[in-house]
Amino acid sequence: MQEKGEPKEITLRESTGIITSNKLDCFTLHNGIVYNPWERFYGGVIVRGNIIEQVFKGDPPPAKTGERQLLIDCCENRIMPGFVDIHVHGASGFDFTIASDLESEKAIYHHGISGGTTALVPTMVSAPIEHLKQSARNLSAVRKRQAPGTPEILGLHLEGPFLNPWYKGAHSVKYLKNPEAGLIEDLVDSLGDNLKILTLSPELPHALEAISYLKNKTVTVALGHSGASVEEVEQAVACGLQHVVHTFSAMRRFHHRSPGVLGAALTDDRLSAEIIADGVHTHPTAVNLFFRSKPRGKTVLVTDALAVCGLPDGECLLDDKKIIYRQGKAFLENGNLAGSVITMNRALEGAVEMSGLNLEAVLPSATINPARVIGAGKCKGSLEKGKDADLVVLDDYYNVLATFCRGIPLTYRAI
Ligand SMILES: [Zn+2]
Repeated sequence: MQEKGEPKEITLRESTGIITSNKLDCFTLHNGIVYNPWERFYGGVIVRGNIIEQVFKGDPPPAKTGERQLLIDCCENRIMPGFVDIHVHGASGFDFTIASDLESEKAIYHHGISGGTTALVPTMVSAPIEHLKQSARNLSAVRKRQAPGTPEILGLHLEGPFLNPWYKGAHSVKYLKNPEAGLIEDLVDSLGDNLKILTLSPELPHALEAISYLKNKTVTVALGHSGASVEEVEQAVACGLQHVVHTFSAMRRFHHRSPGVLGAALTDDRLSAEIIADGVHTHPTAVNLFFRSKPRGKTVLVTDALAVCGLPDGECLLDDKKIIYRQGKAFLENGNLAGSVITMNRALEGAVEMSGLNLEAVLPSATINPARVIGAGKCKGSLEKGKDADLVVLDDYYNVLATFCRGIPLTYRAI
């Protein structure tokens, strides 16, 4: 009997043997259960270069005349779009806020290999503005030199420093600021089109002007670390607020006479919203409530993974704070949760288990929904002709058997 966490000793087989090359011009994944992502059927995917050429039901179509067909047998495992993580801080001991470009690449690889992430938005915690600009330059250098075969950086997420100190979570209060126009314009000018998401607390002074300005610059404005009222969230949405980070975490509690930011996040259908489905940040019932409350197109699974993701139990530094990591939980020294240590495949597994929904219902939250939050839905997030060939193959226990980033295998397990 196969145990959870022990992948089957099979998987991707070419018609002529195991995959031995990472340069496959055209190949066909077949004999899989395709999730795309709202529907499920037996079939496969034909990839040409970096692009999806065809998604088919049943057996693979015959090869074109004169063309050799490279078949990769998925042995009835699950073929799905690669995961898109728009809130992730690092892995393998490296935090995007302080890592060098090479260290950031190692963290990115970890999420691709272990978690099936094929596109991501590296996320930085609150830090001095000049420090954030330097980190952005490092990640921009990585982004520029990225080739197919690695999880693609789609831009950057600044989670702060424009946050309410009362809901600071693991952010250092000494770096927190009000979103004054000069600061916001300076960041937008410095980061350019690398800036994809900016998380702020809408109740802070100048926040509404900042939201309007950022919306005009096509930056997705997210709400987080907030004690806002329903009315304050309403005003922010009218100015262009689109998204909510880690629903339930670091926000004012729900009260039936004053539902606040959480009540607004769960009931305003215009807002997409994230959930950390690791069973640590959110009770299963809260995850269930989240999926019952939000429309299917507005749920987003994120890892919010810290540098300790992928490391054995131990300690590391986040800025000047010690993070203690034990048995799947990361804490600050004061005992508060600091972030997660999961990867996207486990977030998906957790969300399916805790929501009571089937995989097809939850999968958009890890693929097309986050892609749309940052305007990348045209090329990412689903298996469609002409889209980037970002694919992941999972077994029945959500173990990653293969990750293809823009048509190039990043990892696979073979016999
Ligand atoms: Zn975070």
